[in-house]
Amino acid sequence: MKQFDVIVVGGGIIGASILYRLMEKHVGKCLLVEKSEIAGQTTHASAGMVRVFHSDPLLAQMSAETVRFLNQFPQAPYHRTGSVSILSESQARYAEKLAGYLKSARIPTRLMDARQANDSPWGMHFRPKEKVFFESQAGWVEAALLTRRLIAESVRAGATVLENQGNCMLHTEGCEVTGVRTQRRQFGAKLVINAAGPWAEDLLRSLGAPLGVKYKSIQANYYELEQAECLPCFFDYTQKTYGCGRALQNGTQEILVGVALTDTSELPLGEQPISLTDRERAFDLVAQRIPKLDPSKWTRSRRRLDAYSEAKRGNLGLVPGYQGVMAAYGWGGTAVKLSRGIANRAAQIAEDYLQRRSITHSIHRGIPCQTEISLS
Ligand SMILES: Cc1cc2nc3c(=O)[nH]c(=O)nc-3n(C[C@H](O)[C@H](O)[C@H](O)COP(=O)(O)OP(=O)(O)OC[C@H]3O[C@@H](n4cnc5c(N)ncnc54)[C@H](O)[C@@H]3O)c2cc1C
Repeated sequence: MKQFDVIVVGGGIIGASILYRLMEKHVGKCLLVEKSEIAGQTTHASAGMVRVFHSDPLLAQMSAETVRFLNQFPQAPYHRTGSVSILSESQARYAEKLAGYLKSARIPTRLMDARQANDSPWGMHFRPKEKVFFESQAGWVEAALLTRRLIAESVRAGATVLENQGNCMLHTEGCEVTGVRTQRRQFGAKLVINAAGPWAEDLLRSLGAPLGVKYKSIQANYYELEQAECLPCFFDYTQKTYGCGRALQNGTQEILVGVALTDTSELPLGEQPISLTDRERAFDLVAQRIPKLDPSKWTRSRRRLDAYSEAKRGNLGLVPGYQGVMAAYGWGGTAVKLSRGIANRAAQIAEDYLQRRSITHSIHRGIPCQTEISLS
């Protein structure tokens, strides 16, 4: 049985970002196992919008790490369009504090009133009294391409990556995870990182570990346009709508529009119905914001779904009650923008675990906490 220091399960943006960071930090001998294709699942469907503004300060901090990384990583397929967040009144007060933190993190932002924002060259419409948070370093990233590039760089640095392995299972001895089993092979590891995205709970189920994050769905509609301009990414907190304009590799252009669905808690994962009302609502809300778009040209053709965790929560850290297994999943709907922040913390936890140090970077269901590891 081949032995590794760390095995990462799942080749989406989170698994790839963690693997890359592990290799940067020289944490040890690493393997990543993917059941199908690298970046073939949620990450493949992602709009890839990356911005720092978040109503949760921890997530804002983690997003800031991603924005900084994407602006520096030469291989990043990153489109710096800027990002506009339309804020509610209470968020505007918080945004002033956040702008202070971001200044110290050297991330330029501007808080504008509606008049200033209406004078901007974006061609968007803002209502009186609205406050707008603008981040010039934000944008959107081709998430699947970024994932493959992070994997390629990691392999170059010495990591092993296996695709199309089928569902991989945890291998356990008592309360210790000692590696993973694929349909054909078995690999041993001191630490297994569960980055299986929406399937992460299935992987943990064999342990009976109660670490669930509730997934919900959001809707994203893609409207192809003949002449879309690259708008800033925008998120309208007053209406829970988002959108960005982007050029596609085949030469066509599109505007991507999303709206949070009202209640999807009962829906299963996978292909889920989207009501026409939600689709039309997204379309109308975005058309109000971008008056220069000609609605008759919108094809309203494509829809994709996201696994969205309640309150954007996630798990990052050792699984309590077990040795040798760590969670790195959740935050559906926002995990591309959090990817570097998650990877930084996951790699630090892995390093601390392997060196038997106490662990201070855990986040369970969105709440930071400290984990003590057994030294036996
Ligand atoms: C339409 C849409 C729009 C979005 N827009 C944005 C956005 O604008 N900004 C943003 O930040 N985020 C956005 N997201 C969310 C973001 O894309 C996801 O949060 C992120 O891609 C999740 O990455 P992941 O690596 O956790 O999961 P995944 O990409 O799903 O990767 C998990 C991987 O694990 C593999 N796997 C599962 N089980 C096993 C197993 N047992 N053995 C081996 N492999 C296994 C799967 O095959 C999969 O490849 C959007 C998502 C969608 C769908």
